[in-house]
Amino acid sequence: MPPERLIGWFGTHERDLPWRDPACTGWQILVSEIMLQQTPVSRVLEPWRMWVERWPVPSAMAVEPAGEVLRAWGKLGYPRRALRLHECSKVLARDHGDRVPDDVETMLTLPGIGDYTARAVACFAYGQAVPVVDTNVRRVIARAVHGREQPGNPSRRDLDDAEALLPRSGAPRFSAALMELGALVCTARNPKCDNCPLVDCTWVRRGRPAHTGPPRKAQKFAGTDRQVRGLLLDVLRGTTGSVDRAKLDVVWTSDTAQRDRALDSLLVDGLVEITTDGRYCLAGEG
Ligand code: SF4
Repeated sequence: MPPERLIGWFGTHERDLPWRDPACTGWQILVSEIMLQQTPVSRVLEPWRMWVERWPVPSAMAVEPAGEVLRAWGKLGYPRRALRLHECSKVLARDHGDRVPDDVETMLTLPGIGDYTARAVACFAYGQAVPVVDTNVRRVIARAVHGREQPGNPSRRDLDDAEALLPRSGAPRFSAALMELGALVCTARNPKCDNCPLVDCTWVRRGRPAHTGPPRKAQKFAGTDRQVRGLLLDVLRGTTGSVDRAKLDVVWTSDTAQRDRALDSLLVDGLVEITTDGRYCLAGEG
């Protein structure tokens, strides 16, 4: 994969995303990476701007109750991310001089920071030549390098593959370009090969063999526990205090066992708490 060609393509096709501003701090980039993990760019733009204005440094978030962070998370989905980021802000403020450390090993000790996030922050915030592997990168490598339409299950090999591609200089820009190519051109369905800078792509040279592994699971939302959890959280986000159980029960009446299960899981995850008088509130607001 010729790095200069990919980086050249990135130079003219890079999206103007606010967290790519060179003035962004490690903390601001960390916030963007956490938000982007399971939510599309278009839905992250506005919340990210609000968050970095409201909480420009970790200590600004750390002094807030967790519920306030969950409220600001709004409908970004998978709200445990917000809770973990709040925990992370406390550790950063207390132990790391109110900034995100710049080495992967230390970042991996922080709450909610996994392999991908640690490397993404090291690369995009601190310019380090570390491999950054997300779903898009895995797909581009599967096609362009291995000649397969879809990547296999995530494994350590993904990092090795990405590391082997990194150029001697300009590695962070190359990594950003690879991710961008997967997001804009080498998409899961209907890759736009005619507009792709990787004309020597192995999958295309092999005649685009069809995926032979297990079919990709479609992500359902309607009717799932995740939907019910979201409805319950909506009630609590919409109030500044606690609510009684009846206010929660009305949001999902078609399957009361499912509703109870969803509420229990919110309690277990620490997103919701029960007050001493038996009412329900967001974490830290009891
Ligand atoms: S040529 Fe097509 S399949 Fe190959 S990397 Fe480019 S977009 Fe993806």
